[in-house]
Amino acid sequence: MSIPQSIADRSTEPETTIPEPLMKPLISDLIGPKKPTFSFEFFPPKSDEGADKLFDHITKLEDLAPSFVSVTYGAGGSTRQLTKDLVLRTDRETGLTVMPHLTCVKHTRADIDEILEGYAQGGIRNILALRGDPPNNEPYDWNTSEYRYASDLIHHIKSWGDRNKVNFAIGVAGFPEGHPSTPNRLEEMDHLKAKVECGADFIITQMFFENRDYYDFRDRCNLAGIRIPIIAGIMPVQSIKGMRRMAQLALGMRFPASMLRAIRRTDGSDESIRRVGVHWATEQSRDLLDHDVGGLHFYTLNKSGATLEIYKTLGVQNSNQLTDDPSLQI
Ligand code: FAD
Repeated sequence: MSIPQSIADRSTEPETTIPEPLMKPLISDLIGPKKPTFSFEFFPPKSDEGADKLFDHITKLEDLAPSFVSVTYGAGGSTRQLTKDLVLRTDRETGLTVMPHLTCVKHTRADIDEILEGYAQGGIRNILALRGDPPNNEPYDWNTSEYRYASDLIHHIKSWGDRNKVNFAIGVAGFPEGHPSTPNRLEEMDHLKAKVECGADFIITQMFFENRDYYDFRDRCNLAGIRIPIIAGIMPVQSIKGMRRMAQLALGMRFPASMLRAIRRTDGSDESIRRVGVHWATEQSRDLLDHDVGGLHFYTLNKSGATLEIYKTLGVQNSNQLTDDPSLQI
C-alpha cells in the first residue's frame, strides 16, 4: 500500500522550527563516574509575590553553583502554566540550567506536544518525565487515559524529539524504598528498566533517610542491568507538620528510629527540629559523596536556608568543591 505523499512528508518533516544552538547543557552530559551532580528542587508559587520571594532564594542558591535546578508540576497539570513560567524565567534571568518536571496523568498527547514545543522553543532541553498521580479525592479512570505509565510519556518525548530534531535529556523517578502501587519489588525493577529502555538518561530518587536503602537500590539496579546515573533525593526535615505531610504524600517512606529519637530529644520547637533535620541531611550527603553517589538532589521546599547550612557544615562554598579534588593535600 502506498502512503499518500502529503502524509509521508508530514512524518519526516519537523512539525515546528526549534531554535539552535543549545544554550544550557544536557544533564546527561554533566553526570559521569566520580562526577556527581548537585541540584535543587522548587515548586511554582501561586502568586507573583510568592514567585518574587522564591526568586530571592533561587538567587542565593545560585551562589552554590548547582549543576541544575528543577521545578515540579502540580498533580494532574494543576500548575501547568506556573511551572512553565518559573522554568522559563529561571532560564532567562539566571545562569542556571533548569529542568521542568512533567507528569502525564490527565493529559492528552496534544497537551504534551504543546508543552514540549513551548519548552523546546524556550531553549529547555532537560525534562523529568513522570506519570504523576490523579489529584486527591478525584475519581480517575485509567482505562480512558491516553497515558498509563511514565514509560509512555518517555516514548512520546523521544518520538516528538526525533520528529522535531530536538534532543531532550530525560530523567525519571526511582524509589529506593519501593513505590506504593507495586508491592512486588521484582516487577517494580522490570518497570524501572522499561523506562531506561525507552530512553531515560538518569534517575532521581524519592527522598530517603537511610543511605543503605539507596546503596541497596543502586545494587539492585546494577544487577537488573540498569546502568544510568542515580541521583539521590535529600530532604532536610524542617518540622513535624512537614514530616507528616511527606509521610502522606510519599506513602511507604521510612523514618528511622534514630532520627525520630533525635527529634524527641529536642524541645519540640520548629528551630530545634530543623537543626536535627539539617544535621541528618548533612551526614547523609557526606556519606553518599564518600560512596560515589550519582548526584545529590535537595528538596528545598522553596527555601534556601537548610541547603545553605548543609553546604556550610560540609565546609564548602559551592558545589565545585564537593567533587574530589586530587590536588588538595591533607
Ligand atoms: P511510573 O514509572 O509510571 O510508575 C508508577 C507505578 O506504576 C509504579 O508502581 C510502577 O512500578 C508501576 N508500573 C510502571 N510500569 C508498569 C507496567 N507496564 N505495568 C504495571 N505497572 C507498572 N509528582 C507530581 O505530580 N509532580 C511532580 O513534579 C513530581 N516530581 C517528582 C520527582 C521525583 C524525583 C519523584 C521521585 C517523584 C515525583 N513525583 C511528582 C511523584 C510521582 O509522580 C508519583 O510517585 C507517581 O505515583 C509515580 O510516578 P512515576 O513517574 O514513578 O510512574
